[in-house]
Amino acid sequence: MRYFFLALFASVSLHAADTPKAPLMAGAATSNITPELGGEVVGGFLPYPCTNIHDELHARCLVLDDGKTKLALVVCDLLGLHRSVSTTARALIEQETGIPAANVVISGTHTHSAVNTLGGPVRGYFSDQELTDYQKFVARRIADGVRRAIHLLRPAEIAFGTVDVPEHVHIRRWFLQEDKMPLNPFGKIDKVKMNPGAGNPALIKPASEPDPTISFIALREPGGRLISVYSAYSLHYVGGVNGADISADYYGMYCEALNRLQTGGSDGPPFVALMANGTSGDANNINFRNPQPRKKPYEQMRYVAEDVASKVNASLANVTWQNSAPLAARYRELSIAWRKIDPALIAWAKETEAKTPRIQGKADLPLSYAGRVQRLAKASPETKAAVQILRIGDICIGTTPTETFAETGVEFRKRSPFAKSFMIELAHGYYGYMPTPRHFELGGYETWPGTNNLEPQASVKMMDALLEMAAEVK
Ligand SMILES: [Zn+2]
Repeated sequence: MRYFFLALFASVSLHAADTPKAPLMAGAATSNITPELGGEVVGGFLPYPCTNIHDELHARCLVLDDGKTKLALVVCDLLGLHRSVSTTARALIEQETGIPAANVVISGTHTHSAVNTLGGPVRGYFSDQELTDYQKFVARRIADGVRRAIHLLRPAEIAFGTVDVPEHVHIRRWFLQEDKMPLNPFGKIDKVKMNPGAGNPALIKPASEPDPTISFIALREPGGRLISVYSAYSLHYVGGVNGADISADYYGMYCEALNRLQTGGSDGPPFVALMANGTSGDANNINFRNPQPRKKPYEQMRYVAEDVASKVNASLANVTWQNSAPLAARYRELSIAWRKIDPALIAWAKETEAKTPRIQGKADLPLSYAGRVQRLAKASPETKAAVQILRIGDICIGTTPTETFAETGVEFRKRSPFAKSFMIELAHGYYGYMPTPRHFELGGYETWPGTNNLEPQASVKMMDALLEMAAEVK
């Protein structure tokens, strides 16, 4: 098999004079990042130790090579990852493979049944942190996965596709009848409520619209079997695991389901699917207008995963394959201010801490936010928030390090100089939710200081930088 690839590559190279485009190469591999039992699961309001592995967690890695430039795209089964995890993994990749750190994108899926890689050993808001043992392990495994994908580089054809799957994405921020709005942890009344409860009779309307579009990039051996499909859907996560299980949520199940749908021999390297999170900070899988019956553990995530995989698989039949794709990347770290905490809020936090009894194992919202705002107030004024553009032929991917709102991804798609554009979130860091300025006016969970950690203009600054970088690589 290898001789065949080398021969094919050589014959294409010989004709380089009359075919100026270099052939595209692609390779994909996975690296297991499952934590030890007992690690603290991070998706709930309070952490709890994991007692079982329902399905393994992976760093899924895709490497592309146009003959001059290599890109690596990595999606990890994690709630998110601290900037320092990405920095460490990309430094290893650059040292060991020569792929520049700026050409590597590493993002988390936002599975809630994973162990914490968001923060370091010290709680607080820092651009750079010492890594925990698990974070070091994840960084090492990401770099190994990229190296394994490089070992599998082979001639490839590329295609882009989209498919709208509106049925699984619902906006979770709602206007309620005014007298039905509860107090927020700071003792104020917001204009919208996050997760107001399915079938709540006080529902008026959602605060925005979800993004139903799945974008995908497919790679296959020339005329042959699939190498990889990199996809993105703006669905927060599905959830519904059993007890204190570790699971990759629907993201991992989607990858398995798409794999099962492929026909063709099992010889040769395995097909690798990746499902990145699009922009889903305000959209989840709960149908608030039409409540769905309660499901057994894993039932709903399997249903979503298999439905999405079958729709992506069906649209693969209609794509146009190309044998070249010039590659480019731009990576910038923006100086974005941490959310300002005014003295009145600090006074509220101190007062709340003084008067609230602490009960072990019981979450108390005001007490939790009292801690968060005081830690946020101690952060250095600005952070180094990374944004990145990847150009893959006529396709453009923009990334943010936050839980980005659906409308931001839609705006990027409209304003990008590339007709085939999409955005992914939770790349190169975890800075909490990033509402657009108009959502700060509405309030709600995602805008509270401590769930939102960056200045209200962050989404505008990131969009501007992304569009500038996209124009540079056009
Ligand atoms: Zn979230």
